[in-house]
Amino acid sequence: MPLVTYLQFFSRPFDILFTPFRRIVVAFWHSLFVRLGSSIACASVLASTTTNPASVAAGTSTATMAAPKKKIAVMTSGGDSPGMTAVVRAVVRTAIHMGCDAYCVYEGYEGLVQGGDFIRQMEWHDVRGWLSEGGTLIGTARCMAFFERAGRLTAAKNMILNGIHALIICGGDGSLTGADKFRSEWPSLVDELVANGELTKDQVAPFTHLNIVGLVGSIDNDLSGTDATIGCYSALARICEMVDYIEATASSHSRAFVIEVMGRHCGWLALMAGVATGADFIFIPERPQDQDWKADMSTVVRRHRKMGKRKTIVIVAEGARDRDGTKITPTEIKDLLADKSEGGLALDTRITTLGHVQRGGTAVAYDRMLGTLQGVEAVKAVLEATPETETCFIAINENKIVRKPLMKAVQESKALAKAVDDKDFDMAMQLRDTEFADQYKSYMTTTNVMVDDRKLPEKARMKIGFVNVGAPAGGMNAAVRAAVAYCIARGHEPVAIHNGFAGFARHHDDKPLGAVRPFDWLEVDGWASKGGSEIGTNRELPSDSGMELIANLIEQYEFDALFLVGGFEAFHAISQLRKARDEYPSLCIPMTLLPATISNNVPGTEYSIGSDTCLNELVYYCDKIKQSASATRRRVFVIETQGGRSGYVATLAGLAVGASAVYTPEEGMSLEMLNADVNHLKEVFRNDKGQSRAGRVILINEKASKVYDAKLIASIIRDEAHDRFESRESIPGHVQQGGVPSAMDRCRAVRLAIKCIKHLELFGRNARNHVKRDPASTSVIGIQGSEVVFTPMVDLEESGTDWPNRRPKAAHWLGIRNTVDMLSGRPPYPKPEKSLTGLIAKDTKRGLA
Ligand code: ADP
Repeated sequence: MPLVTYLQFFSRPFDILFTPFRRIVVAFWHSLFVRLGSSIACASVLASTTTNPASVAAGTSTATMAAPKKKIAVMTSGGDSPGMTAVVRAVVRTAIHMGCDAYCVYEGYEGLVQGGDFIRQMEWHDVRGWLSEGGTLIGTARCMAFFERAGRLTAAKNMILNGIHALIICGGDGSLTGADKFRSEWPSLVDELVANGELTKDQVAPFTHLNIVGLVGSIDNDLSGTDATIGCYSALARICEMVDYIEATASSHSRAFVIEVMGRHCGWLALMAGVATGADFIFIPERPQDQDWKADMSTVVRRHRKMGKRKTIVIVAEGARDRDGTKITPTEIKDLLADKSEGGLALDTRITTLGHVQRGGTAVAYDRMLGTLQGVEAVKAVLEATPETETCFIAINENKIVRKPLMKAVQESKALAKAVDDKDFDMAMQLRDTEFADQYKSYMTTTNVMVDDRKLPEKARMKIGFVNVGAPAGGMNAAVRAAVAYCIARGHEPVAIHNGFAGFARHHDDKPLGAVRPFDWLEVDGWASKGGSEIGTNRELPSDSGMELIANLIEQYEFDALFLVGGFEAFHAISQLRKARDEYPSLCIPMTLLPATISNNVPGTEYSIGSDTCLNELVYYCDKIKQSASATRRRVFVIETQGGRSGYVATLAGLAVGASAVYTPEEGMSLEMLNADVNHLKEVFRNDKGQSRAGRVILINEKASKVYDAKLIASIIRDEAHDRFESRESIPGHVQQGGVPSAMDRCRAVRLAIKCIKHLELFGRNARNHVKRDPASTSVIGIQGSEVVFTPMVDLEESGTDWPNRRPKAAHWLGIRNTVDMLSGRPPYPKPEKSLTGLIAKDTKRGLA
């Protein structure tokens, strides 16, 4: 085993322990070996980890005595996408952290073929501030030479001459296919370079095999095996923003708009945009209309107009076709909508082609997190790979980051494109992931609400009460809209209980503005992109409103089921209702909760709707604040985040903006840790050579400490800085609840809400005894790892809930804290007493929401 590999293997068990402890151990070995003058010591320092950039720099002087460092290169290739710079930053810093040299190959494969200045070693500071940059800062290109063996031969030579052992490629399926070909050909390329005398045997000896790991950077979300590609949610966010703008003008003039979005073989963007904006009609390549699309679209649009809608939005993917494979163009759609002949729709119609706007701008929080966590995982994967390991790419399934065989995914993606070309549309849908199929069904439900053909038999139809509980969160309205749509389509009777349980208890009479009201679909249909909660919301628990009164009201209104949307209060409310069932038989109806809170602190799920909206608000806020320091450069902002007693939002925002430190309630705070962080800031500013003008950010959750708050910390830093740098506090407050919900929150809200009503449907009407016995009759829907599940309340109440702290007992995201610290170069600090985070096993693969 090569020395460095051996030492990495040796240090790996410490990975399981939390990083600071590992560093202490490493520091001990370091000092011991250095004193012994052993060359092994140097390698140990290199192979183990040195987060602090200053010590990294110090470590390099001794490196020459040891086995050579592993050199890891990263490149971006093919079409650019937001989040690629996050990947490059994460790979560079993780590689340095793991004791390797980091390289960037500029301009994709073109740079690899050209060599020379296109392949550059990167230092820790070179990637500072990259998280907030769109596109890719190391360039990308399409390279014809790499399609030929001769080009790949030159690329191999350049890699060996630069001593690069492993390559991480972020690109689309084309780039990843090229990567796999390069790796499989590698031994023969090396032999050829020796045979034709371009390199010697000694030169190629350390490079007998090449490790490659792929990361999927693409706005189309067109690779099989992963739920999301890096950049797709940013593109979707941009599309939804544009559609939201267009809707306002469409509605004013009662116009129709045909909006063309990207996607040659893949309709993910068009489908999700349709779901998130509540578009009237969509065209996607994978699923053309069964019959004549012209007739289908005319029927739907006419129905919606008859209902009273003032606007018509049609979203078309650029690769849309009809069942015969003939391309459907925006102009054809427009002509049909604008047709003034007898029986025509005669709508004032405009076409908007969104084009490259969809690729542009900075990455949304999700893409920054995805790019970062996947970049970290990619470095681990290349270091762990052996000649026998199959080439992998890093995927995400629901909420879990996983390694998957690269070529299988590429082949499946190609098969999908071929299925579309061959007009085998059933196969095309099968090759898409479950979420795509789910969302397609969701979309069809919400756009075909008034169609009678899917109604349940009379006796199976239920009267379902809708209650929003707690603070408003982005996506609540989208959830209610989707659930109402599904209810109407199935023949159920959805009823709004306005202003939570408080409203129910106090204003339940029959006056026109009483709390219990039927939904008006025409109104509800416009809620897809609305922030806040249109049916109101209230924090009051049923016990506060009066349990007997609530039970009587449920009886009085003859509800067969309750659908709750909300955060921890909603969780508490449903728990109270479940426990009161013995006393009040009217409560023996199925109830389910869709978690919706910016704090993401509901037990039973790793993701609550609204948390993505909040993260985006925070990330953009931090970007702006960091930029505001560019005149002075030397400024630290201490920003207070919401989140109750859950540090989720602070930590994930910290990951997405590259915070210098994050303070959470789970970890707590102490004087020693603050001291360590202040000392680190002093060192950072001492060594700062002005590479980036942006300020630095520290995030503190509102309940991280009873003593230290943003203002106090900023004052301490300012005082300690002695005018060498400045510090300011900043409190975004309710801005974090967001205006317009994020595209991801809207899409997930729709999918999960429909699943909730389907779950309630399982219990049917008048099944009191059966309901009481079945623990699943009061449950929480959640994303857990790679699955969407309903967890019975009784299980969560007993073993999954930290009641005093109003959060789940096990927070899936705690491991991410180490990644935040590692990537910002935060040195080890003393953990406060009773810190939860030190006790939780490190697991950065989980917890991306
Ligand atoms: P994307 O990665 O976004 O799908 P492309 O399909 O244009 O973009 O691929 C980017 C680059 O990857 C190409 O210009 C080429 O250099 C390389 N590449 C793509 N397919 C192959 C292949 N089959 N063999 C070798 N190289 C390839």
